Order: sequence, then structure tokens, then C-alpha cells
Amino acid sequence: MPRKIAAGNWKMNGTSSDLVELDKLAAAHADPSVVMLICPPATLIERADRICAAAGIAVGGQDCHAAASGAHTGDTSAQMLWDAGAAYVILGHSERRADHGETDADVSAKIAAAQAVGLTAILCVGESLAQRDAGQALAVVGAQLRGSLPDGVAADRLIVAYEPVWAIGTGKVPTLEQIGEVHGFLRASLADLVAEGAADVPLLYGGSVKAANAADIFGVADVDGALVGGASLTAADFSPIVTALQNA
Ligand code: PEP
Repeated sequence: MPRKIAAGNWKMNGTSSDLVELDKLAAAHADPSVVMLICPPATLIERADRICAAAGIAVGGQDCHAAASGAHTGDTSAQMLWDAGAAYVILGHSERRADHGETDADVSAKIAAAQAVGLTAILCVGESLAQRDAGQALAVVGAQLRGSLPDGVAADRLIVAYEPVWAIGTGKVPTLEQIGEVHGFLRASLADLVAEGAADVPLLYGGSVKAANAADIFGVADVDGALVGGASLTAADFSPIVTALQNA
């Protein structure tokens, strides 16, 4: 997969009337050197894929269950996402960890399930503000990375997103030095944890990425792209971020 990735996480936003944003993105971008990925709510994946496939835009889910099928009311399996047209799935997002009590072990099982059906897993790690203030940022993301990667993880179907919890949806962004420090640490840690291909695992930064700060963030070493929440909801906000990545 190309290393540059601009991923949009629509979270629990979007109904069919919002799919027009994908038409606008499709019309605006045709650069195969950048993976443009949209992760809409599960209800829109199939329709989003019908719009995106022809334009070379990838579609992903925001979570999956670790089991292949069964009595898990309200959940979605990895195979179901794949069947609906998803090629990627976000796993271990801090909102899932907070809202649903997901542990690193849960995330590890989900990554294994996702990769088993062919999905590329986007593993999210990130520290809270209290943990950063206590000087624990690297220890926290290191522990999340170690605990969330299943045995035999496939590096070629793995992306890691550094998403400091305190930067998500807040307008606050770490300094470029802080981003660089964590990304360098993640790159080095992956080399110890992944048997083959660690150097090729894309590392995304996520947390209040906007058109105004994207180019600076993409200039940081070991930043291969972004996972974008709020600014991915409209083509007007997301397009300039994708363009900044193309130009990085
Ligand atoms: C996210 O939820 O993954 C995220 C990065 O959100 P935002 O861009 O809105 O901070």
C-alpha cells in the first residue's frame, strides 16, 4: 500500500444526504500516491463504497467484533465490513476504549479478526493529558502498542495512528517535536514487535488536524498521514488536508 494515507473518521455522523460529500471528494482527487480513506458509520459503508470505488477512494469501518459471527446483538463482524465494501477498519479508537471499556486484549483480538478476512487494521494509540503531564506519554503508547498487536500480526495490513486523547476534537495539537518524538518511538518499537515489514507500517497522526496545520504536521519525520475526525465530514475541509499530504 502507498505510505501516504489521509483517513477520515466520520464517527457517529452521517446519513444518506451526506454522501454528496464523497461525490465532491471523488471529483477533486485522483492521486494514486495518496490513499484517501473514508470511514463512515456502518450504515453507509455499502453506499459509500459504490461512490468511492470508481474514484479510487477506500472505505473503512470504525470498529468490528472479534468473533466471526454469533449472538452479539448490535455488533458487526470483520467479514460483514469486508462484505459491505470496507478494506480498512479503525480499531482501539480512544472513544471505543472510553465508551465501551475496550482493553488492549480486546483490540488485539479485533486486529487478528480483521486481518484474517483481509482488512487493513488502523490501530489507535494515545495518552491522556494527565499521562502526558506526568511524563508517561511514551510509556502509555508503548504499552498500548505491545498489548494491542496480536501474535503474527501482518505488517502489510497494519497502520498505527498516534492519537493523543487530549487532542481529539479539542482544537489542541501537540507540538511538532512531541509528534516527532512519539512517531519515532512508534517506528522503533514496531521494529521490535513485528517480525517483518515494520519499517513499512504507515504511521498516522490524529487529533485536531485541519487545513491550517496539516502541512506542518506532514513535514514531521515518520508522519505518513493523518486520521481526521471533524475535518473529514465535508469535502471542503478534508480536501485541503489531502492536498497537503500530496505535496508533503
Ligand atoms: C479522531 O477522532 O480520530 C480525530 C482525530 O478527531 P478530530 O480530528 O476531530 O480531532
